[in-house]
Amino acid sequence: MAPGSAAILGLVMLWMGARLVRAQKRYRWLGYTLVARGAFNVLSSLTLGPELYLLWFAGTSILKTLSMLGLIYSVQDEIQQRYVRTIDSLSHGFLIRDRLGYVHVANERCARLLGFDSAADLVGKHVCELLPHLTPAMADEYFRRFEAPGVHYPMTETAMFALHNGTRLPVEMMGSPYIERGRLYCLVQLLDISERKKKDDLLYQAARIDPVTGFFNRHALSALLTQEVARAAAVGRECAVLFLDLDKFKRINDSFGHAIGDELLRQTARRLHAVLRPNDALARFGGDEFIIVVADLEPGTAERMARLCAERVIGAMAGRFDLSHHAIGVSASVGMACYPLHGSDSDMLIRNADIAMYEAKKAGRGELRFFNDAMNAAAKDALVIDTALRGAIEAGEFSLLYQAIVDARGGKLAKVEALLRWDSPGLGPMRPDRFIPVAEDSGMIVPIGTWVLNEACRQMASWRHGPLDGLTVSINVSAWQLADPAFVALVERALADNGLGGHRLELELTERVLIDDGGHVHAVLQRLRALGVGLSLDDFGTGYSSLSYLTRFQLNTLKIDRAFVMDIEHSERSNSLVNAIIAMGHSLGLQLVAEGVETAGQAAILEKMGCHYLQGYYFSRPIAADALSRFAGEGQLSAS
Ligand code: C2E
Ligand code: CA
Ligand code: CA
Repeated sequence: MAPGSAAILGLVMLWMGARLVRAQKRYRWLGYTLVARGAFNVLSSLTLGPELYLLWFAGTSILKTLSMLGLIYSVQDEIQQRYVRTIDSLSHGFLIRDRLGYVHVANERCARLLGFDSAADLVGKHVCELLPHLTPAMADEYFRRFEAPGVHYPMTETAMFALHNGTRLPVEMMGSPYIERGRLYCLVQLLDISERKKKDDLLYQAARIDPVTGFFNRHALSALLTQEVARAAAVGRECAVLFLDLDKFKRINDSFGHAIGDELLRQTARRLHAVLRPNDALARFGGDEFIIVVADLEPGTAERMARLCAERVIGAMAGRFDLSHHAIGVSASVGMACYPLHGSDSDMLIRNADIAMYEAKKAGRGELRFFNDAMNAAAKDALVIDTALRGAIEAGEFSLLYQAIVDARGGKLAKVEALLRWDSPGLGPMRPDRFIPVAEDSGMIVPIGTWVLNEACRQMASWRHGPLDGLTVSINVSAWQLADPAFVALVERALADNGLGGHRLELELTERVLIDDGGHVHAVLQRLRALGVGLSLDDFGTGYSSLSYLTRFQLNTLKIDRAFVMDIEHSERSNSLVNAIIAMGHSLGLQLVAEGVETAGQAAILEKMGCHYLQGYYFSRPIAADALSRFAGEGQLSAS
């Protein structure tokens, strides 16, 4: 009886074992042990006599142990395979390294990113073997930073990897902790950001280069001058700013057209550039204004060197310009301000050189003037404005105008931007560009901004049951306001007090708000988003213009600055740039608004490019709330 059942059991085991060996590669060890046990059972049932019992018992015990091990191995292998399949299916490169820098796990994507054939080539290697420029000290340093107290995970940073195959790869690295058997490992995810980087570089260029002349624009120049002043201050040197304005440029533009005007600007820029020293910088500051920074001057020589440069500039402008068969004479007026004599920072130097330029213009054509204190009346402005701003809220001197933002298709009113106006009894009506910087310097912008928020919400509530019911209003928010710990609560209260949902409000932020964020802004924006409030990036293209802001801060809307829209009809460069911004916005799922649309031509181009919304004088100037109601009552905003 016993030998018979042992034989049957043995045959079953043989059959199952053979199936496992053949069918499932990773179960083959279990299969082999089953085959061995089956064979042993069959054999022992045929040959078993009492004298062999001991041997039979020892044999089955060993084989049982072996098949248990086979089973464990198979299960482990299954888990391992599943794990490998999971990490291989990730779109990010993925790598786990230990404290010493050795790679424990990597996926195929990671191998391909780093220029290796397969993940197996990475495992067991030191990270320094994967990246030739990485030193053990750098690898250690990374881990030390990674485990430092107070680090936010994932620890995100961007880097440029030099790969062993000679290429360079811009990546975003995200390090998170991974603990196995009580030991800390660093799990690094790698994302190839070369596409993003290319677009960033394009924007970086565009944000700094004037499309007409190919030299710096005003933003780049301000940044450059700030650096130059800081450097001069640190080493006790001086520098000078020349502010140049072409005389009668407008007449040339009007009588010969934009194309000739642009050509004149290009030729002027080339002539100016030719008289500069290698360290000096040239920028087109606005329409027909140029700025030259005369850099790195010996103490006590700034005025002499500035005058020398200005004389060379005026000399360079003396020859006639050849503009498509017309020989035209153009002169320039030059105002000068020196650091540290006439100003201690970049804004002040530019402003004072500008004031001096106006004085030069008054004196006739082709003149040059230094800034002096008698011209300082304007510089006192800030102080006067600051004083007048105090008490302005209580005195009811502020009001809001609303500018329509229309659907690019069909021109229907989509939302409005609230723009602040100040009518000071002492100083008269004043543009926000003049008083907001002063309010920002003194911190007054926080109460003023709160007033704007409340007033906009009150206005929305008063539109209830009228033709403007449900309209979204966007307000401008300055960096100071976001830094105020009470800000989110203020927004929440303004909405609740007026019975409004969060989606009715949109906040316009500038890139300056988002840069250098130590995590605070991110948290504030997250809370605002949770309220349903829309977030929009204002003046896009004029600042730092990095795509990482858009993705990191999860903004909804991007407003293309009017500086780009302005030239879209006759500058190839602005045109293709706006096109690129729109395409990129689409790929990030953002709503796009073009600002400063002044002509039907611009509106048509932008619509064709796929811009969702348009804002500008072509559709409506900023107008009072009741005028807006009348517009909406008429059904549609007409072009004005
Ligand atoms: P912004 O946010 O870029 O606002 C758009 C500005 O462009 C407005 O000037 C508007 O009148 C003007 N604009 C609109 N369409 C056109 C156009 O087709 N052509 C031209 N040339 N300009 C156009 P505004 O009202 O003088 O405001 C200037 C800036 O002041 C705003 O620029 C914004 O940065 C700031 N600002 C205005 N209101 C507030 C506010 O309540 N709070 C804060 N923090 N800043 C504000
Ligand atoms: Ca704005
Ligand atoms: Ca804007």
